[in-house]
Amino acid sequence: MEFFQQLSAHDYEQIIAFNNNATGLRGFLAFHDTTLGSAFGGIRVWRYASDSDALTDALRLSRGMTYKASLAGLPCGGAKTVVMLHEGMRREEAFAGLGCMIESLSGRYFCARDVGITDADLTALATTTRYVAKDPSPQLGDISEHTAIGVWQGMRACLNFAGIKEKIRVAIQGVGSVGHLLARILRNDTSGVDGIESVELLLADVDESRAAAVARELDARVIPPNEILYTDCDVLAPCALGGVISAESAARIKARIVCGSANNILTGPDAAEALMKRGIIYAPDYLVNAGGLIRGAEFFLQGIVDSQPSIVKIQERTKRVLNLSRERNVSPAVIADELAEARLIRPKRYSNLSWRRISANLSFAD
Ligand code: NAD
Repeated sequence: MEFFQQLSAHDYEQIIAFNNNATGLRGFLAFHDTTLGSAFGGIRVWRYASDSDALTDALRLSRGMTYKASLAGLPCGGAKTVVMLHEGMRREEAFAGLGCMIESLSGRYFCARDVGITDADLTALATTTRYVAKDPSPQLGDISEHTAIGVWQGMRACLNFAGIKEKIRVAIQGVGSVGHLLARILRNDTSGVDGIESVELLLADVDESRAAAVARELDARVIPPNEILYTDCDVLAPCALGGVISAESAARIKARIVCGSANNILTGPDAAEALMKRGIIYAPDYLVNAGGLIRGAEFFLQGIVDSQPSIVKIQERTKRVLNLSRERNVSPAVIADELAEARLIRPKRYSNLSWRRISANLSFAD
């Protein structure tokens, strides 16, 4: 597809391609939509096979952020940065440089952690930009923990909707930042909640030592990474990368519920349909993984000290989406999209750019 065809397919606002030969920094910052306010979105650091793979990832993920912010009722829009990892990148200097670029946007974009970024990267970013959620900090807390709490709230709604209680078996794909914290919540904070008596934890991670350590800590069973999606369980929680469930793979899933933190869990709408046909409850990813975004937006934009009350609302919102899905016999993914789109007023106004300043600086004589 031609570049602008790709942008117009989902009305992307702006793409910034960045490059710095001295540090090897290279990547894209995609703004999907700032109708509702400044854009929020994490920075993904990944070894992409090609430039177009990186751009496609930035586009997909930034759109997810817009929908996530909108559905959560937040006054912000969606963006995403992808940094293309390669041997020649001098990491610390590269991230300090990226921070300069983000700072130059004057608060139009707030960034945070995503897959592949390290604490050292966030520290380097924070030397040159104020618009970064460098967690954990006493004021902000740990963004991944807020995300995990939100996923648990969504999972509770799904379990109640399905009438599953007492003994529950949860399979977690990926026990990095969010998956590990979700496993901790499930092991330590669920007894007696909604009639739950015990939780059996199954987990997988491509990093074998990480999987083993989390299993030891939380009395969980390790499953090979290539089996976790199809393992026998009540809840499958994909907490690694996106695109893990397609219409074909949905046919092999044994879980009754799919509810996890990964962005873009489904390969497309046909996967949502396939899950629904099999009676598997799907909690839309951007609905249940919004806890970190809620915390970041409330902290940066509204100075709110405690975001727990807003994050807990993910449970109610998930219940609403599932009920509407049942009433209308369409997948929860479609319902979530509709609710998110209802808050996005068109046409876009580039709401965070000051038209007055721009027109003052531009003159036809130039
Ligand atoms: P992370 O990098 O800390 O953890 C991901 C884990 O998944 C790693 O341990 C990795 O080894 C493992 N993994 C990768 N591929 C795997 C596979 N095929 N099978 C099993 N394990 C695999 O990332 P994270 O911050 O925990 O985020 C996890 C997911 O949640 C991502 O999709 C991210 O975009 C999404 N998400 C994260 C947040 C947040 O606050 N961190 C917020 C919203 C969404």
